[in-house]
Amino acid sequence: MTPQATDPALNLLQRVYGYQQFRGHQADVIRHVTAGGDALVLMPTGGGKSVCYQIPSLLRPGCGVVVSPLIALMQDQVNALQQLGVRSAFLNSTLNGEAQYAVESAFRRGELDLLYIAPERLLTPRTLDMLQQGEVALFAIDEAHCVSQWGHDFRAEYWKLSVLHERFPAVPRIALTATADARTREEILLRLGLEQAAQFVSGFDRPNIRYRIQPKQNIRQQLLSFLSPRRGEAGIVYCLSRKKTDETAAWLREQGYDAWPYHAGMTPQARQQNQDRFLRQDGVVIVATIAFGMGIDKPDVRFVAHTDLPKTLEAYYQETGRAGRDGLPSEAWMIYGLQDVVMMQQWIEQSEADDLHKQVERHKLDAMLGFCELTSCRRQALLAYFGDEMLKPCGNCDNCLEPVQTWDATEAARKALSCVYRAGQRFGVVHLLDILLGHHTEKIRSYGHDRLSTYGIGKDLDATQWRSVFRQLLVRGLLAVDWDAHGALRLTEASRPVLRGEQPVLLRKDQVVAETGKSRRGGSVPDGVEGRIFEELRALRRKLAEEQGVAPYMIFPDGVLTQMAQSRPQSTDALAKISGVGEYKLLHYGAAFLEVLRQFGPPPAAPAEAATFRQSLQLLLQGMSIAQIAQRRNLALSTVWGHVVQAVEASMLDYREITEITEAQIEAITDAWLSLPEEEQTRLKPLYELLDGKIDYHVLRCVVTGLRREALEGENND
Ligand code: ADP
Ligand code: ZN
Repeated sequence: MTPQATDPALNLLQRVYGYQQFRGHQADVIRHVTAGGDALVLMPTGGGKSVCYQIPSLLRPGCGVVVSPLIALMQDQVNALQQLGVRSAFLNSTLNGEAQYAVESAFRRGELDLLYIAPERLLTPRTLDMLQQGEVALFAIDEAHCVSQWGHDFRAEYWKLSVLHERFPAVPRIALTATADARTREEILLRLGLEQAAQFVSGFDRPNIRYRIQPKQNIRQQLLSFLSPRRGEAGIVYCLSRKKTDETAAWLREQGYDAWPYHAGMTPQARQQNQDRFLRQDGVVIVATIAFGMGIDKPDVRFVAHTDLPKTLEAYYQETGRAGRDGLPSEAWMIYGLQDVVMMQQWIEQSEADDLHKQVERHKLDAMLGFCELTSCRRQALLAYFGDEMLKPCGNCDNCLEPVQTWDATEAARKALSCVYRAGQRFGVVHLLDILLGHHTEKIRSYGHDRLSTYGIGKDLDATQWRSVFRQLLVRGLLAVDWDAHGALRLTEASRPVLRGEQPVLLRKDQVVAETGKSRRGGSVPDGVEGRIFEELRALRRKLAEEQGVAPYMIFPDGVLTQMAQSRPQSTDALAKISGVGEYKLLHYGAAFLEVLRQFGPPPAAPAEAATFRQSLQLLLQGMSIAQIAQRRNLALSTVWGHVVQAVEASMLDYREITEITEAQIEAITDAWLSLPEEEQTRLKPLYELLDGKIDYHVLRCVVTGLRREALEGENND
C-alpha cells in the first residue's frame, strides 16, 4: 500500500477515491473552503469539480449541502458516492413523504456527509428550518451559471439563494460552474453575494478531446465510417431535426448499433427509457437533438458526432464537451456543408427576433462558420474565442494532424461570382452549378442559360469542388443569400474586387480523410490478450452494476479497467495501487476483479528478444556499424542483421543510414528490383541471381524490405 499522506485532504483523496494526486486547483480550493472561506470555482467539464466540495464536506464537521438543478442526476450522484462509502442522500420532488422524512431525520442526527437538494426544495421554510436543526458543513452551489439570466439554463430560484448567506452567515459557500465567460462570472458573484469569495479559474481546454470537421458529402456513409471503428463505445450523434433523429437511429440499429433516439417530440417515458439505456448499458449510441445533454453526467462518452452545424461556438463547445469527462481520449467529429450554411443563415434572417438580436446571432454564426473553415489549429481558435490563450498548436485536432492545404481559387471564384451575376442573381446553388458545368436541364433551356457566357466554363472542377467554392465564398461574405428571392445567391460589396480580378482568393482544399480504423477506446485498449481481459472485466462490471442497480462506470470507470488489463495485478496490494481504486471498492469488489485477473496471470516480462532488438537499434542509431555491434554484443552477424531488417520493416531505421550498405549497392538493387515482375519482387532469389550473386543476402533483404515499405507508404499517401 502507498504510504498514507499526512495532509488530511490528500489522505482522503487516496483512501476514498483511490487517486494519487490533486489536479489543477483542487488542492487550493479544498484548503480554502475547508478553512471556512467562500469560493467561486470555474473548471471545464471533467476537471474534477466534485471533489472540490466533497472533500471539504468530509473534513468539516456537519453535512455538505449541495444545491443542484439537475434532479435527474441526484440519484446517480448519490449512488456514485455510496459506491465510495460516503454517506449521502438527496431531497427533491421525486421522493415520497416517507422517504423524505427519513432523509431529514438522518440529516438532523448527523448521519449524512453529503446532501443534494433541488433549489426550489431548499428554499422552502421546512427545509431551511431542518438545516438549522442540524449542522451544515458548507453550501455547494453547483451549475452556478444558472443564476445568469442571459444563459440558456437560467433558473429563477437561483437568485433567491442569497438567503443562505443571511440565514447561515458562518457556513462557507462554494459556487461551481464549467460555463464561464467574464460576464456570467460577474453575475454569479453579484447575485449570490459572493463578492468576497476567492476565485479559482481554470482554462477551458479539454485536451483529451480530438476535434475534427469534414466536408459533408454523404451523411450516412460518412457517419458509418466514423462509427465502425468505434463499435461498442458510448457516444452521442446530434441531428438538427426530430425526423432525422428518428430515422438515423433506426438506420443505425439496422446496421447493428445499439442506437436510440432522443428528442422533445417523444413521450417522457420513451425518452427516459432511452436515456437510461445510455446511462446503464455499455456501448449505447444516442441519436439526439440538442434537447439531450444538460444533466448527462456520463463520464465515459467516447464520441460526440454532429451531422448538422451547431448555431454557435458556445453550443459546439458545450455539446462536444459531453465527451470524455473521464479524461480519456475522445472524439468530437462533425460534418458540415453548403446546406448548413444556407439553412443557418436562413434561420436567423427569418426568425422573429429584432435587429439587434439578429446582429448578435449573425456574429455568432460567423464565428462558428469561420471555425469550420479554419486551416490552422482548431483548439487554439476555440480557446481564443473564449479568451484563453494557447501558445502552440495542439497536435490533437484534424488541422494539426493532417495539415490543410489551400489552393489559389482566384479564377474559380471569378467564374462563380460572374455566373451568379450573369444569371441575374436570382438562382440557388443547384442551378448555378448546372450552368457552370454546362448541364442540359429543363430549367437551363427555359431560361436560355445555355447562351450565357458562363455556361460550361467550370468543367475544370467537379460538382463537389464547386460546392466547396460556393460554401467558402458564402462564409467569407463574398456571396450572400437573398431571402426575399427564396434563397437565391447574390453578390455583395466584397464581391466586386474579386470579380474584377483585383483580389486573390485562397481557399481551403477539402479532403475527406479516411478513418484509420483504429479505435481509441478508454485510452487505447489494444487487441489481443489485453482486449480479452478488458472484455472479461467489463462483463464482471456489468454484472456487479446490475446487482447494485447502478451504472457500470460507478463500479469502476473504463480507465481503471484498462489499467487493470494492462498491469494485471495479482494481489490486493497491487490492485490498490491502481488509480481510481479506493478503500471501499477494494473491500467490496477487489476479490471479484482479482479472480478474473488471476485467470490470466501476471503480464509476461518484456520478452528477452524484444530487449535485445532494442539494444541493437540503439547502437545503430548511435552510428555503430553492424560488425561493431556484433562484436560489442557478442552476437552472430546474422542476428544483428535480423535486428536491422526488423527495424527497417518497422520504419524505425532508414536502410540508407546503414554503414554496411553503399550508395552504389542501393542503386543497383533498386534498379534490378524495379525491373522484376511484381510477383517476383517479394522473393530474394531472383534478385540475387539478377545481380550475379555479387551482393550479400543480408544487404538485399534489408534494402528490399525498405523498398517495399516505401512502396506501401506511397500507396497510403494517395
Ligand atoms: P466535473 O464535475 O468538473 O465535470 P468530475 O468531478 O465529475 O468533473 O470529475 C471528472 C472525473 O475525474 C471523475 O471521474 C473523477 O472521479 C475524476 N477525478 C477527479 N479528481 C481527480 C484526481 N485528482 N485524480 C484523478 N481523477 C480525478
Ligand atoms: Zn490543433
